[in-house]
Amino acid sequence: MTASTAPAPFAAAFAEPAGSPIRELFPYLSRPGMISLAGGYPSPSLFDAEGLAQAARQALLQGAGALQYGATEGLPALREALALQARERGMQAGAGDILVTTGSQQGFDLLVRVLVEPGDTVLVEVPAYPATLQALRLAQARILPVPMDEHGLQTDALAALLAGLPADQQPKLLYTVPNFSNPRGTLLAAQRRQALVRLALQHGFRVVEDDPYGELRFDGETGTPPPMPPTVRAVGEQLAPADSNPVVYLSSLSKTVAPALRVGWMLADAAVLRRCAVAKQTADLCTSPLTQTVAACYLQSGRYPATVQRARQEYQRRMQALVQGLASGDSGIRCSRPAGGMFVWASLDTRIEPQKLFDAAVAQGVIYVPGKAFYPQDPDLHTLRMSFAAPEVPQIEQAVQRLRTAVQQAG
Ligand code: PMP
Repeated sequence: MTASTAPAPFAAAFAEPAGSPIRELFPYLSRPGMISLAGGYPSPSLFDAEGLAQAARQALLQGAGALQYGATEGLPALREALALQARERGMQAGAGDILVTTGSQQGFDLLVRVLVEPGDTVLVEVPAYPATLQALRLAQARILPVPMDEHGLQTDALAALLAGLPADQQPKLLYTVPNFSNPRGTLLAAQRRQALVRLALQHGFRVVEDDPYGELRFDGETGTPPPMPPTVRAVGEQLAPADSNPVVYLSSLSKTVAPALRVGWMLADAAVLRRCAVAKQTADLCTSPLTQTVAACYLQSGRYPATVQRARQEYQRRMQALVQGLASGDSGIRCSRPAGGMFVWASLDTRIEPQKLFDAAVAQGVIYVPGKAFYPQDPDLHTLRMSFAAPEVPQIEQAVQRLRTAVQQAG
């Protein structure tokens, strides 16, 4: 045998990497009869398989483009259709302002690569979307939490935090999900959107506005969805000098059409877009032109608005089943009541031992995500996230019964 030297060590960030806390729940999901309130999965019954089949056929018969490599920035027809979505959401955008990404997850990953160096300060609303925390940890960023309440990120607390930071620790970036946040379900109040952009301009950091859920808003008292506050990017258009909007907008077709398309998008100024496109060249050359063409054909088919409308109505029914089910009597679980999206955030009565509840819930056949996954540090262990999107209403009702039994066992 030849004498051998141990292979070179992994890069520092990957020496002992922690996996995604949500993906680590996967083994429980395959247990027979388990009802999952864990992942943010769209409902299988809401996929427009017929419409997507037509779009796929059209895409494949349209010439070789769908089967060929494509431009890194994305296919022109899709960029055009996504720019139209951006304009419908009140933002200025042409096809050239859009970068198609492989899911919006890639959009954030690219931004971190082009902006964040080890030790840089990044502000994150907390509780936070875990994959964001993971991307920042791998980039060796210094993560500073910004607290939230029922109206989203607390801009007063942010202003105080910024005022106390030494000059060499000023943040590069702030991450927020203003519309129906993951995990808290909150909608960021309009005046806070203004305050956030003002702080970004004053302190010179960029804001990442991650918006996969904004279209999933529920009907209000009048039976129609109440108007949405302007996107943070649109506020940036009003407050920032031309061409220096500090807000980068990310969105996705995952929650409204299908996550398997892996089609997300970024709307940003030319300097950011160009650098992210270069980073994307080494990540995957381009997002699959096949799924991009399917997405473009689907958006052009005119079926998208009805698909979104169905999802809004169905998710509202499911949210109500979950929230009302847990609200009646003393369930020991206090829930938020989101105005859209896929998530309910809950806090546990202090008499309940969180780990005992999780174990009892799994034994009863229901699973959720324990709150600690959403905190970069100092987790509030008496919290949890439930998604009402994937299970049908009868399953949600059953999940509520199982949770109630689990609470009795853990209390
Ligand atoms: N951002 C948020 C807040 C999310 O909840 C998700 C999906 N869970 C994503 C980004 C990633 O979505 P995708 O990559 O499928 O577009």
